[in-house]
Amino acid sequence: MNINNLLRKNIAELKPYSSARDEYTGEAMVFLDANENPFNKPYNRYPDPLQRKLKEKIAQIKNTHPKNIFLGNGSDEPIDLLIRAFCEPGTDNIVTVTPTYGMYQVAADINNIEVKKVSLTENFDIDASSLLNAVDENTKLVFLCSPNNPSGNSLNPGQMQKIIDGFAGIVIIDEAYIDFAPGKTFLPELDKNSNLVLLQTFSKAWGMAGIRLGMAFASEEIIHILNKIKYPYNLNVLTQQKAMELLEKPEEIKKWTKLLIAERAKMAELLQDFPFVVQVYPSDANFLLVKMHDAEGIYRYLVDKGIIVRNRSKIHLCEGSLRITIGSSDENDILLKALKELI
Ligand code: PMP
Repeated sequence: MNINNLLRKNIAELKPYSSARDEYTGEAMVFLDANENPFNKPYNRYPDPLQRKLKEKIAQIKNTHPKNIFLGNGSDEPIDLLIRAFCEPGTDNIVTVTPTYGMYQVAADINNIEVKKVSLTENFDIDASSLLNAVDENTKLVFLCSPNNPSGNSLNPGQMQKIIDGFAGIVIIDEAYIDFAPGKTFLPELDKNSNLVLLQTFSKAWGMAGIRLGMAFASEEIIHILNKIKYPYNLNVLTQQKAMELLEKPEEIKKWTKLLIAERAKMAELLQDFPFVVQVYPSDANFLLVKMHDAEGIYRYLVDKGIIVRNRSKIHLCEGSLRITIGSSDENDILLKALKELI
């Protein structure tokens, strides 16, 4: 696949901004190139625009290469950049499923890109052929999310591979919740699939939503395009430092994840026993989608008690459902106690 044929013409022809730190990256005696202030070290200096140290570290952990990594201000940044790079406003479209994560639609709307949505089945499974049927000659990107938000299930890997093989554009698989899933990441498949982009994030299993750090993994060509159009210093010094610190303690991350997976099993079992719970959907993520009688009423009752869950009851296939994040054991117990008071 020639990625450049998919690119918008203006992006293919774009001469990107070249920052001072792009032009000189080595050690020097004095840096007088970027109009920085010499005082207030280390925050006086612009950050590394390509986050080289952090990418080295992530590449080790993820068993990939820094040239296959893009880092953004949350994974929301690469979602927007992919649409901007490949989709011509008013002409091109993206295909995704419904229900799924809302930002694909929002990013497309901001860029005036049509979104074609293919319904998942009642069990939130995906059917590759119906998705591929929605593709037309102006479809540039397909967005999949596995495990899927808000349903929590992983999509069938065979069906996802069929889409990757059968689509002549770029397939993005958002793996924001992959650390909570028993199934495998598509990361080892990147080499074989030049049209694949994987999104992961520091915001979920890695416990760092506050620093805004998302990862995209793709071919060197696609990463180059994203680097070309991003803000020059899209990740600040503090974010890069905090991420490096966190990555020094991988055992901690594993411990949190194990705990949350155990809490998820506990919560699924206990929630199922409430008389107003119709169904707790199986989840590979750090949340549960729970169908209830009077979901709206229960949502408002919980808000009044200061317990905030996500009301998904107006969303396609999630009618009557609340999405409940798995918190600490104490937080989950507070929710359970409040629900018991309803019986
Ligand atoms: N993808 C999915 C599927 C999500 O649910 C979310 C956040 N709710 C994100 C991406 C956004 O992640 P980030 O914090 O990295 O922007």
